[in-house]
Amino acid sequence: MNCCSELFLLEELHGNNVRNGGSATMQANKVMIEDPWLHETALPSCLEGVTREDVEIVLLGTGSSQPSKYRNVSSIFVNLFSKGSILLDCGEGTLGQLKRRFGIEGADEAVKDLRCIWISHIHADHHTGLARILALRRDLLNETPHEPLIVVGPRQLKRFLDAYQKLEDLDMQFLDCRHTTEASLKTFESNEDKDVSESACVPSDQKNGSTLFAKGSRMESYWKRPGSPVDSAAVFPLLKTLKEILRDAGLEALISFPVIHCPQAYGAVLKAADRTNSTGKKIPGWKIVYSGDTRPCPELVEASRGATVLIHEATFEDGMVEEVFIYLSSLALLLI
Ligand SMILES: [Zn+2]
Repeated sequence: MNCCSELFLLEELHGNNVRNGGSATMQANKVMIEDPWLHETALPSCLEGVTREDVEIVLLGTGSSQPSKYRNVSSIFVNLFSKGSILLDCGEGTLGQLKRRFGIEGADEAVKDLRCIWISHIHADHHTGLARILALRRDLLNETPHEPLIVVGPRQLKRFLDAYQKLEDLDMQFLDCRHTTEASLKTFESNEDKDVSESACVPSDQKNGSTLFAKGSRMESYWKRPGSPVDSAAVFPLLKTLKEILRDAGLEALISFPVIHCPQAYGAVLKAADRTNSTGKKIPGWKIVYSGDTRPCPELVEASRGATVLIHEATFEDGMVEEVFIYLSSLALLLI
């Protein structure tokens, strides 16, 4: 995957251009001309009062599945500083990238402070660094009271983690992405005080996830029901726990939405909670949208409305049109 130009923008706004050198600055300047709201020479209202110590997006990996000398495979570290952090995807070598960014001790602290990990889909370049991170966290917190880390991911990831945990405990709890779609979360909220079952977490109109996967559609076969039933009794308390974790981190929601890539592929919306400034004015929370791997699709367009930052994969270069259809990814040219 690759990042879109808005990311440079946030770094520039925070005075923390993590990419040293003129090219990044030129890129940021170019975006400042192109981006409509910057014509108003004002920050979006959601960034009022946001400082360098509030939020940082660290691109630990933006490469595709093929090894690359300069770009690791996918992982994005959303650093909320004193409020912890969240990993969006966790490809192989993510821990090494954390050490390069924060140093060895800093990486340990980053791993200890993780609030949750979200995985977009089952391709190896998005999750094979996960077990290493979870095992390190388990060891680092060995003598500290703590809860298992929530890992939100596609259902196939649970099978992988279940198999792995026959070798060693990873001190984690799994939550299926399909239980964190907007519709599922709304149903959860409306049933929060009631006796619940899995049906309370998956609304009837979302049983197959989305219209994207409706009966007869090209993507229908990409939304298969789990081979083994999800432990429905465990879903509701986990959603509750996740909600509390997010609230403590100053976040309103972590929402998954289906995208067009492989079976059970998702993008994510991470939304900060609204705040009030010193005059009592309500400040809306910022919104980070991450596409995961995907072809352009309406679900992503919808999720991206009002985004402060959109991080969109763009695996293939101009002229590689056939590849984007074969691998169900995006063309960089179309995103600029
Ligand atoms: Zn992929």
